[in-house]
Amino acid sequence: MEREVMPVDVVLVGAGPANLACAYRLKKLLAEKGRADDFQIMVLEKGREVGDHILSGAIMDPKAMVELYGADWRAQGCPVDADVGKEEVFTFTKDAAKKLPFLPPTLKNHGCVIVTLSQVVRWMKDQAEALGVTIAEGMPAADLVINGGHVMGVRLVDRGRAPDGSEESGFEPGAEVQATITVLGEGSRGSLTKKLVDGLQLQGPNPQVYGTGVKEVWEIPAGRIQKGTVYHSAGWPLPNTTYGGSWIYAISDTKLSIGFVTALDGGNPGTDPYEIMQTWKSHPFVAALLAGGTILKSGSKTVPEGGYWSRPKSHGNGFLIIGDSGSLLNIARLKGIHTAIKSGILAAETIAEALLAGDATERMLAKYEERVQASWIKEELWRVRNWRQAFSRHGFGRGKFVAGLAWALGGKIFADRLPIHADHEAMHKGQASADRSFKPDGKLTIDKLSGVFNAGSVHEEHQPSHLLVADPSVCASKCATEFGNPCERFCPAAVYEMVGTIGKDRRLQINFSNCVHCKTCDVADPYSIITWTVPQDNGGPRYLGL
Ligand code: SF4
Repeated sequence: MEREVMPVDVVLVGAGPANLACAYRLKKLLAEKGRADDFQIMVLEKGREVGDHILSGAIMDPKAMVELYGADWRAQGCPVDADVGKEEVFTFTKDAAKKLPFLPPTLKNHGCVIVTLSQVVRWMKDQAEALGVTIAEGMPAADLVINGGHVMGVRLVDRGRAPDGSEESGFEPGAEVQATITVLGEGSRGSLTKKLVDGLQLQGPNPQVYGTGVKEVWEIPAGRIQKGTVYHSAGWPLPNTTYGGSWIYAISDTKLSIGFVTALDGGNPGTDPYEIMQTWKSHPFVAALLAGGTILKSGSKTVPEGGYWSRPKSHGNGFLIIGDSGSLLNIARLKGIHTAIKSGILAAETIAEALLAGDATERMLAKYEERVQASWIKEELWRVRNWRQAFSRHGFGRGKFVAGLAWALGGKIFADRLPIHADHEAMHKGQASADRSFKPDGKLTIDKLSGVFNAGSVHEEHQPSHLLVADPSVCASKCATEFGNPCERFCPAAVYEMVGTIGKDRRLQINFSNCVHCKTCDVADPYSIITWTVPQDNGGPRYLGL
């Protein structure tokens, strides 16, 4: 198939904080050498607009923003919702909220800011564009171009395929973006990162493990909370065997960002992160805050929780892997925006040297990893390198003491790497469908389809499904018997549905139009037969403002 060829010097896949920081810093560094106009830098974004597909709590440690834009980064116009003010941490039981008498050190957020990440990346996009970076929105990268282990760029998605995959009139093969250096900063469970890590066997000593976060933004009556207030909770409705917890951030006196993250390695095939979030809202503490309020937006996203030992190799011939794609999130602090931005800065320094030297080999790009190891990213992640493993091994109750003690001693105990199971391997056989008691009331709690509506997620129906199931016969036979079809539970957007009569025409129906691109299915499917790919129509959620 003949494809249009677009040659650039650097292509960055994903317009999140890591890649936008990298593109901006790179242009600045090249400008300092008087070479800014000699190199073309392109950022590809699969969403219709930058910010559409990004979702985070979010409390941001501003230190990387200061390094990137200077101490006056806020005065330059970066949108910030609030400075963190009052902070409290609770343990929930079904009917009570017990406030901890102290703030766990990893959850102290004094000096940090509450942001809406979709708005922050819109601003970062403008800064990069002003320097001459090309930001290509609505341009999903579907595949990598690799030659003999050297990444040579990416291939954009083909457009104009019929639902059966055949070419229709008006079919357009995706262009090949040929690049000296390809940067994968796709966020959590990037589809190209997954391909590259599997294909070149780059995964670190531990597999990556994930949680699924479900977020809502609420408008509530005045007088209940002050702008800048931060609450976190652990406990109910999660069992002790499952890592996770909630956040409530007051964006203003009447607007809240709330959410719940549920780890996917808890073992129960019936785990439903969406229902857990909805159930959590019915707790008296939360329900009292939300009573009479309105949900403005909602969405879901996986969170890469594995940390240091789950990092894939970050570099190779012609490529770098940065940000969440490179497992740089600090799960103990519940933060990854600052490490993502810092990784973008370090990647830019490495790429500038590589471009000016005309050398994009692994030897040259290894300097990125050297920079990471010498930076505060390493310091932060090393101290909590066994954090998630402690919870996975000991359950939440004991895990928090073990992980907390390791942190308090500067990471000097449990010095060796603790292993962890991949999420899909941790799932126990059993019936996912055992508990279907959750009934949303339509006000405080809402069903998954209402969540899809609030996410603004749509895909054209007339196209191939972007969710590929390698062997759908497994769903009605083996999976139904062994696990009870957990995909009907773990997907927060009701995409997977078993239809038909058992023993006759039972089969999996994929309502791909609902998909909010959270990637939970790609992670949690116990047989690893689901592959998330980019849709051909730029479909998906509209998270701007979430
Ligand atoms: Fe998330 Fe997969 Fe469901 Fe899409 S289909 S919303 S990626 S779990």
